[in-house]
Amino acid sequence: MIKKVENPILEVRDLTVTYDSKPALCDANFGIPQGSMVGLVGPNGAGKSTLLKALMELIPKSSGNVKFFNENLESVRKKIAYVPQKESVDWDFPATVFDIVEMGRYGSKSLFKRLTKNDKEIAREALTKVKMLDFADRHISELSGGQQQRVFIARALAQKADVYLMDEPFAGVDVASEKTIVNVLVQLQNEGKTIFVVHHNLQSAAEYFDWMILINKNIVASGPIKDVFTPELLQKTYDGNLTTLEQIGQTIQKQQFPIRES
Ligand code: ADP
Ligand code: MG
Repeated sequence: MIKKVENPILEVRDLTVTYDSKPALCDANFGIPQGSMVGLVGPNGAGKSTLLKALMELIPKSSGNVKFFNENLESVRKKIAYVPQKESVDWDFPATVFDIVEMGRYGSKSLFKRLTKNDKEIAREALTKVKMLDFADRHISELSGGQQQRVFIARALAQKADVYLMDEPFAGVDVASEKTIVNVLVQLQNEGKTIFVVHHNLQSAAEYFDWMILINKNIVASGPIKDVFTPELLQKTYDGNLTTLEQIGQTIQKQQFPIRES
């Protein structure tokens, strides 16, 4: 089930990516509507990170094409923010929290141009949103996993983009960080931004997202969460993996018979 989208903010056509002639992503076709909160969900090794990297042109495509705002990435790059998967970041990189967040401002500058007072104010605002301003002068290696993730999200916020691609922002973060990050995402969506998040946890996926893409090398489904978050499609995505399926059953039951929280 691939739901057709009129005027998609991101459109992917026939996208295939291979590593050493082994395909990691096959013939992906989907579009996502502007202002949606999209969850990209699938098992380990399904090609989720590969898809995001290919969208950002960090790895070459074998075939296919990608449009943001109906344009190629080069002409709209500043409008797209990307938060990589945490384990792919070099945490010994000699930089403070503030340095990292300031990097979000360089995309709008020509090379070697100095950051202005306004840029620094935007960086401070971004750190405030993720509740990390008190840590501005710390080295990033001195932070917990959840704090590091919040700093990388602040860098994306400082970019003041329109589309946010985030690779597993909730992986290995504490509950407080997860709540802070969710609030930031909701706020972005309320401002009309489009958010595309790789996500692992099926329980919370149903809660967080309004659009879902299921992936397992192929795009299994893409559409509104009520059409995509079904036992059949999840089963197909997870190859009938039993533990996962038990979780799915519980999750869907919760969705259909939500327990009212007092
Ligand atoms: P996911 O993010 O869904 O867990 P990935 O996109 O990281 O999956 O990986 C998809 C597949 O591609 C996996 O089988 C993985 O081992 C392989 N892969 C990822 N990166 C590389 C690489 N740089 N070189 C070779 N194979 C890779
Ligand atoms: Mg990944």
